[in-house]
Amino acid sequence: MNRESGGTVPVPGRHRTSRRGRRLLGFVCGIVGLVVFAYVYLQSPFLWFVHVEAGRIPEPAPGTQRILVIAPHPDDDVLSAGGELALAVEGGDSVLVVFLTNGDANQAGERLITMTPFHSARAYRALGGRRQKEAVLALGKLGVTPESALFLNYPDRGLINLVVENALCDTPYRSRFTEADAKYSSNAFNPGLSYCGENLLADLEEIMESFRPTVIYVPHPLDAHPDHAAGYYFGVLAAQRALARDADGAPKTVRCYMTHVAHRPWPWPKGIGLGYAFELLPVYIEEDPWESIPLPKNVEQLKLAAVRSHTSQWWTSRPTLEAFVRQNEIYMVVNIAGMDGVPRWPAASGNGSLARATDGGER
Ligand SMILES: [Zn+2]
Repeated sequence: MNRESGGTVPVPGRHRTSRRGRRLLGFVCGIVGLVVFAYVYLQSPFLWFVHVEAGRIPEPAPGTQRILVIAPHPDDDVLSAGGELALAVEGGDSVLVVFLTNGDANQAGERLITMTPFHSARAYRALGGRRQKEAVLALGKLGVTPESALFLNYPDRGLINLVVENALCDTPYRSRFTEADAKYSSNAFNPGLSYCGENLLADLEEIMESFRPTVIYVPHPLDAHPDHAAGYYFGVLAAQRALARDADGAPKTVRCYMTHVAHRPWPWPKGIGLGYAFELLPVYIEEDPWESIPLPKNVEQLKLAAVRSHTSQWWTSRPTLEAFVRQNEIYMVVNIAGMDGVPRWPAASGNGSLARATDGGER
């Protein structure tokens, strides 16, 4: 047998080529795997199974507390009152969370949805849908049912405009992000209403009239984020009107939560806040008292899980969000019965224009 005739002669060039080819193939597969992993990780597969239906105003159960949280954006509810919500559910109280916007003007979040540098109204609206899902998932960690979440779908980063220049519905606001001038989500509370202060106030009044909250949570009037300052204005104005209509059905307690503090890091230190307690903010203590509500350890853990459900915010704010999970939650308590006229609200020079306009006064 001729050994040479049956064998192959190694060709150095061909061997090098196949090794280089395998390396290239491995590199390409690695990149593709990394992209697929990043997409799946950032898009949070848990959210694929969450479907957000239109919420409904729960029947107020007699003899229990009725807790209403007004959140400008999805995540403000759990950051500010996640512990209170978990304790309320545990205690058998009725809870309702009202999201004023879908949080759809977040540019980093929108990039996360599209994974491209290009912005589009469609992507911002998709982000709003994703943040709704995150909100429902987060509330579920606290024991709050999806039906107890109402999405009002007013414009993110546009609420302050609804107080002054777009207070009346003959001049609706148009979002430069979603390009919407009316509620676009089919699952929104009162879908299709145009973006104006009158409509937002009417929504909140309808909710309060039906739910008859005993305790409400609103943003602090001096919060540095304009949407939050506006959230205070609308929430307190609606509560004042509920009080004027029917003292028995009006909230007895109004708690204001601080999320964005101007000119100083807040909360501090950043990162998981377990083991820390919020201290009261002396600079913001005026005539209204503050209160600190301690959270049991297990509730801190529930709140952490809820905060971590807002995965679209990890991109930019995870250490800040997690820092809100502490041994307590703090609020300034305002007495709406003792307020003179429109709520104390310093964030815009046109303070009170909506209140006056919808009372039939000046436009
Ligand atoms: Zn917010």
